[in-house]
Amino acid sequence: GRGFRPEGTRVTFPNGLVVGGDEVVIMAGPCSVESSDQIHLSAKQVAASGGQFLRGGAYKPRSSPYSFQGMGVEGLKLMREAADENGLLVITEVMEISQIEAMLPYIDCFQVGARNMQNFNLLRELGHVRKPVLMKRGISATIEEVLLSAEYILSGGNYDLMLCERGIRTFETATRNTMDISAIPVLKKLTHLPVLGDPSHGVGKRDLVPAMALASVAAGADGLLMEMHPNPDKAMSDGAQSLFPDQLTKLVEKLRLLAPVV
Ligand code: PEP
Ligand code: MN
Repeated sequence: GRGFRPEGTRVTFPNGLVVGGDEVVIMAGPCSVESSDQIHLSAKQVAASGGQFLRGGAYKPRSSPYSFQGMGVEGLKLMREAADENGLLVITEVMEISQIEAMLPYIDCFQVGARNMQNFNLLRELGHVRKPVLMKRGISATIEEVLLSAEYILSGGNYDLMLCERGIRTFETATRNTMDISAIPVLKKLTHLPVLGDPSHGVGKRDLVPAMALASVAAGADGLLMEMHPNPDKAMSDGAQSLFPDQLTKLVEKLRLLAPVV
């Protein structure tokens, strides 16, 4: 709870960047790493828009086993290279324990996906790594369940943990998920951890992403995780919710009117 660290946990990265401080942090990039050109171009665009992290999946949790599953270690190498060339940090999803070791040299932050929020063995293992973790809320997880999953990581000794609201499954079909903006202030009240918003998975449609990004920051989010693709119509996953590069640039400008952005 908050009592443990009333001032709030600040997660500090090797380049000195702080999440959970006074500034909003932007993590952006494609859903999946698809090719060298795609991720290099993405990194350039994220940096130009004012982002601090390059996001992108190399191990993808696809609903269908026949969909693109990600580039694996090759994708991690490309991401690292693209991020370094543009002064960005790397955040990417880990799906199972066996991937942790191979990922360590290439990444700055492990992302636990919504589908793995209750993969307790994975969470336990991430409690023992010395790298920050961003844990997403499960697709139908209650706040209580989010907190208990966070405990699996914290109790192992890894306090560099960030939480992320990414939309939950409800009866509503107008959006891909229902972005639970209230989860942001609720989690900020109940924990000392930084809380981010992922409006891309939250709504699933790019034209709705800016509104939910702004709402997340207005609600107190410490950062945003967003999908942006150099050519969303050609994306191998989540193209419909991926911002065009110029949309990201305009959105970051608007966010700056609301709160200090790194
Ligand atoms: C993603 O970030 O691309 C992703 C798979 O997100 P989630 O785990 O929230 O579905
Ligand atoms: Mn995605």
